[in-house]
Order: sequence, then C-alpha cells, then structure tokens
Amino acid sequence: MPRKPGKHTPYFELVDAQSQSGCPICRLAYKATSRYLDSLLYEAVLDPDVRDKLKNSQGFCAAHVDVLTRKPGRALGVALIYRDILRAVADTLDKADFQREPSPLSRLLRKGSGGNATTARLQARAQCPACVISEQSERDYVQLLLAHLDDEKLYTAYSQGEGLCLRHLMVAMEAAPDEAAFRRLIEPQSERYRVMLRDLDEFIRKRDHRFQGEKYGEEGDVWLRVMNTIIGGAGMGLSAKSGGRRSPNLDD
Ligand SMILES: [Zn+2]
Ligand SMILES: [Zn+2]
Repeated sequence: MPRKPGKHTPYFELVDAQSQSGCPICRLAYKATSRYLDSLLYEAVLDPDVRDKLKNSQGFCAAHVDVLTRKPGRALGVALIYRDILRAVADTLDKADFQREPSPLSRLLRKGSGGNATTARLQARAQCPACVISEQSERDYVQLLLAHLDDEKLYTAYSQGEGLCLRHLMVAMEAAPDEAAFRRLIEPQSERYRVMLRDLDEFIRKRDHRFQGEKYGEEGDVWLRVMNTIIGGAGMGLSAKSGGRRSPNLDD
C-alpha cells in the first residue's frame, strides 16, 4: 500500500482552498503553475540552458501565454525566451525547400493532406512545460485529498466548500482507493448539486417579471458558480458559503 502523504504545507493549502470560491484543485494547480512560471521567468534571464529547453515546446500554450501576459515583471524573461524560439524558427525557414511530394513525417502530421519537410521541422517537439507542471500538481492534490478525506478537518472543509469541478471530480473518482473514500468524495458533491439546482430554480423564478421586486439571496451568483462547477476554474462570482463575499481571484 502506498504511504499516506503527510500533513505538510500542501495539506493546509488544500484545507484552506475548500473555503474559497470554485474548485480547490483548479485553484491550487493554478497557483503551483503560476509559481513555476515566476521561477522560470527569473531563471530564463540568467541561464541560457533554461531557454534552450523551452525551444522544444516553442514556449507555452495559449492558456499559459495568457497567464504570462498578466504577470508583473515578465517582459524581459519573455523577450529572451521567445528570441531564442524565433531565431530557431527563422533559421529553419531560411533553409526551407519547396517540396511537391510530402515527406513521410509531414504526411503523418498533416494526415495526408500534403505538406512539406520544413513544416514538420517547425512543429513543437514537446508539450507546454507549464501544462506538465499543472497536470502533475492536479494529480498530487487529488491524491492528497483522497488520502486525507477521512481526516475530520479536511472532510468538514470539503463538505462545506464549493467542491470539485466535474473534471477533477472524475479524476478523483477514478483514483479513489476504496469504497469508503469514494463515498466521502461523492456524497457532499451530490448534495452540492442539489443545493445548486434549488438555487438555480430560485434564481430563474426571480427573473420572472411577476417577482422582480424580490431581493436576491445566496442564489444571486449561482449562474457563475454553476459554470465553475461544470468547467472548473475558480474565482468566478461570489462564494455563497462565505456569506456572499468574493473569494480571491486566481491571480490574487
Ligand atoms: Zn477543478
Ligand atoms: Zn500550457
């Protein structure tokens, strides 16, 4: 049996994240990835080897480029990283040959629609490194949650929190080590869905012109929370659980 992970900083982060709006795994994976990007930007300025490795992935995916553009102090690191990438792209392009017949590799990449050996060389050869970190940290936090769901403090926080997005719920269900952990995972989630459905009914009822004068209660932001619940992310809307206070956004 694998050793149960200890109660270190990630455990306390996990307990704490339950009381914030949105999926705690999304939130923690985002934070871990954001920390990684900060250190990578710092190292990329100092170390050409760090930049060299980033040439394989051609930098970052669109989602992580979006994160980078919102980071303070990112400009020099980004410029240095992408100068190396663009140099490699420009050098490849300078050596481009016109080819009527697609090469076997380009045929594979372009699914037989024709192509060119140069376009194959212009493809990224590795996954976005921030995605790698994000996926690893999602797996780690899901394992930590499952390992400590029998812990009163975490279970209470999980039961009272906004719960997991659908994707992370499914990851956790697949990884649940036994029936007891599986039940502790899904029962609070199922209850949350019922509460949210009641909130949605109430919200939709109040949008009817006959009830327009009625004030909104906890259901006021349910249209935002329900998107968090299905697609993930965190920081949309308010947290009904925290008395309608806005939880810190992902970047805060
Ligand atoms: Zn999630
Ligand atoms: Zn990425």
